[in-house]
Amino acid sequence: MSWTPEHFNPIAEQCGTADKCRYYISWIFSNECHAGCPYCMVGTSSTKYVPRKWSDQQAIFAWQQFHDDHGPASILFGGYEPGERLPLMSHVLTYHYGMMVTNFTFDEKILFRLIPADRLILHPSFHARLWGHDIRPFLQKIAKVRAQGFSVPVVSIACWPPDFKHIEGWRDAVLAEGVHTNIHPLYGTSYQGRKLPDEYTDQEREDMHRFVNPFIYEDRVDCKPLEITACAAGHAAGGITMDGHFARCVQVTEPMCDFMGGEHVKFWDEPRPCPAARCMCGNMGCFHVTQEVEQDGDRDADHHVQRVPVD
Ligand code: SF4
Ligand code: SF4
Repeated sequence: MSWTPEHFNPIAEQCGTADKCRYYISWIFSNECHAGCPYCMVGTSSTKYVPRKWSDQQAIFAWQQFHDDHGPASILFGGYEPGERLPLMSHVLTYHYGMMVTNFTFDEKILFRLIPADRLILHPSFHARLWGHDIRPFLQKIAKVRAQGFSVPVVSIACWPPDFKHIEGWRDAVLAEGVHTNIHPLYGTSYQGRKLPDEYTDQEREDMHRFVNPFIYEDRVDCKPLEITACAAGHAAGGITMDGHFARCVQVTEPMCDFMGGEHVKFWDEPRPCPAARCMCGNMGCFHVTQEVEQDGDRDADHHVQRVPVD
């Protein structure tokens, strides 16, 4: 469905915060992870780390200023492992509302102490090696955080070929808890010398389609070329990159301002075309603007409505 001004922030609508949050921002928040997954998109060393070019104090100031300028935002905390930086997150959530993409290894006692349940939605990923390939303790932790009032709408499961034989069982166990699953093809990594996702074998692709259906949360097996007229990222949404700039999203990263350097965010007046061939911002399809026109001189018998592809 196309983005429209009437549904300015569809992600906040999904989160129940649309009456408070005008803007959605995806933030490459954490620069560190100690999980050591073999398929991590930045390689296989056990600690992931990239230098951060901003301090906690700069981030706290920048988000206070954003709140003064634009009100509360709906923020996706991403990057490596956001759960390793809960104290900074709690400061930012004093003013804003969040979602955290997490490997779920954080200490839940710290979460409960620092962050009110109505301020943060949890999106855990099940990385099997961290749980001894046993999904039960992972599900027990979900039950524990839900008992404290935190919402857990969806669990992601990575499509790592050696785990394929388990994925349907894990998926069904998550669904049995009333939580959606996002069966997630791997990007920017490799397996047996094959680059993923482009070099998954035909059999692996067929398997992945089986895992995703019929419980589709988000089907990213076939990442299709963009066919949109514009995107509302930059107008209704934005991204904070690892170096602290504000951009329209975390894929099209031309800086719109030096966010962590204290500059004010100014959103564009309207959606603009996107130069990317494919959109890898998995949850931002709701900001795509598609143009549906009836071809007056060329209507077929069913008054077929045709989607117009744009370069
Ligand atoms: S939890 Fe995520 S960021 Fe950390 S090593 Fe695994 S894939 Fe990489
Ligand atoms: S279409 Fe995707 S990549 Fe392009 S601006 Fe929008 S969110 Fe970013």
